[in-house]
Amino acid sequence: MPRLNLVVLGKQGAGKGTQCKRLAEAYAIPHVSTGDMLRAAVKADSPLGREVAAIMDAGALVSDDLVIRLVDQRFGEPDASRGALLDGFPRTILQAEALETLLGEDGIKLCINLDVPVSLVTERLSSRRVCQECGNIYKDTDIEAISGTCSNCGGDVIQRKDDQPEAIAKRLEAYERDTEPLLAFYQERGLLVVVDGAQSPDEVTAALVAVISERGLA
Ligand code: AMP
Repeated sequence: MPRLNLVVLGKQGAGKGTQCKRLAEAYAIPHVSTGDMLRAAVKADSPLGREVAAIMDAGALVSDDLVIRLVDQRFGEPDASRGALLDGFPRTILQAEALETLLGEDGIKLCINLDVPVSLVTERLSSRRVCQECGNIYKDTDIEAISGTCSNCGGDVIQRKDDQPEAIAKRLEAYERDTEPLLAFYQERGLLVVVDGAQSPDEVTAALVAVISERGLA
């Protein structure tokens, strides 16, 4: 079976994390989120974490070199031998080119753009709360957010600093400037599929599974 490497694009709050977790389970491939990897480094207070914490809190992008190195290392781990769901990477044309070099030209099988209007992602991001331990995502009205305790693992449920209004605006700006050009990059390669991310999470998952199966990828 060829390696199932999928890139999932979409504005912050489009539902990439939720959908990647589901697809990772369905296809038994790892969910590789550079944002999660960087947040884990910040939490562990490692040298890498100390280098990137302020940049991330402000909603800016960390350097291409740094994330390319992280992803390169991640692909070296045994569980990535069947493929990976890439969430939050690539984020710039330079990263997309580096990924092609890393995996070979036919390394990426599909790029899914979870399309959601700015007004909806802004609303989703401001009400989003996350478990610091397992990464489960809640809404500010969920009991886990109100009590501050994750029902999955007992970890602390918090609001990410970059989900506060100023950082949200900055992240959406960076997405438009740096990441939207990737849509044309993958379109030119015949790899781009657009899925309506404003549907319910279950409807989005069903649409994604249908696309993957139509393309004969799994
Ligand atoms: P995310 O959870 O994907 O929104 O990522 C959170 C933050 O991590 C971003 O706002 C960036 O500061 C940083 N980050 C994650 N992935 C990348 C990437 N591929 N390139 C540059 N910065 C990234």
